[in-house]
Amino acid sequence: MNIIKKIKKYFYDFDYELPNLVVITGQKCTLKCKNCANFSPYHSKELDFYDISKIISDLKNITKRLKYIQHMQVQGGDIFLHKDVIRLLNYIKNDEKIRECVVATNSIIIPKKEILEILSDKKFVVRFSSYGVANELNEKKLEKICNEFNINHYVYLFANGNSSWADCGGIDMKKHSLSLTKENYKKCLFKVCLTLENGILSRCSRSTVAHKVQHFRIKKQDFVNVRSPLFNIHKLKQFVVENENSEKGIVQACFYCNGTGGKMIVAGEQISKEESELLINKNNLIQSFKK
Ligand code: SF4
Repeated sequence: MNIIKKIKKYFYDFDYELPNLVVITGQKCTLKCKNCANFSPYHSKELDFYDISKIISDLKNITKRLKYIQHMQVQGGDIFLHKDVIRLLNYIKNDEKIRECVVATNSIIIPKKEILEILSDKKFVVRFSSYGVANELNEKKLEKICNEFNINHYVYLFANGNSSWADCGGIDMKKHSLSLTKENYKKCLFKVCLTLENGILSRCSRSTVAHKVQHFRIKKQDFVNVRSPLFNIHKLKQFVVENENSEKGIVQACFYCNGTGGKMIVAGEQISKEESELLINKNNLIQSFKK
């Protein structure tokens, strides 16, 4: 292989099929779940919505380098709160390098007709997360509408398939030892949820943001920066493959997380407005001390 071909192979690989990519559109959500694994209630003010033009540009920067993305999932917060969701969905619909796309929602917002028409494209599947009393009425309503619009859909009973959440741990948790982290990571079902959030790729949709509220130091190898001029397919493939190795795949966020193999808890338990304000203020206070 000559040198030009070698360099090209480093930046592009048109035989490579990325198995899975989660895309976050922002942390603003219609629910305030006490044990949200991704800490959405803490970020909903400062990371409310990401610019859709930037998300599309990030996706183009990935898809132009590979054969295709087999499975994509787009989610918030609550994706249907985003004012530009139509632009993103249309982009996904028309990008031939994205094979299928799950749109994850808590079913609190019933999307408008224009969105429902896009979602009726066979590339999309709408996933309703089941939060019991917090959303069961809306879930039934959205299910009925999906049937009317001939939209593929299903009810998601969470990673362990039993309607409960794995307790990944809250913001105050202490750092786990390396041996416990290795054990947790090995069993963690989220480690294959490669996530794109605000221009960076990380192991899961917790690890893209956990450091902002758990206040630990991140390492360079925890992320792949899609917006860097040096971003290349070699780096992306290497990061994905590290999943399979339970030591190399560990990112700093895993040291502050129980993964999905531990205690099970009630899904979608809500916090009151007062509790939420207290938590956000506490987080802001910690951040101001760190400045
Ligand atoms: S153990 Fe690591 S990969 Fe699994 S959910 Fe926690 S941060 Fe994400």
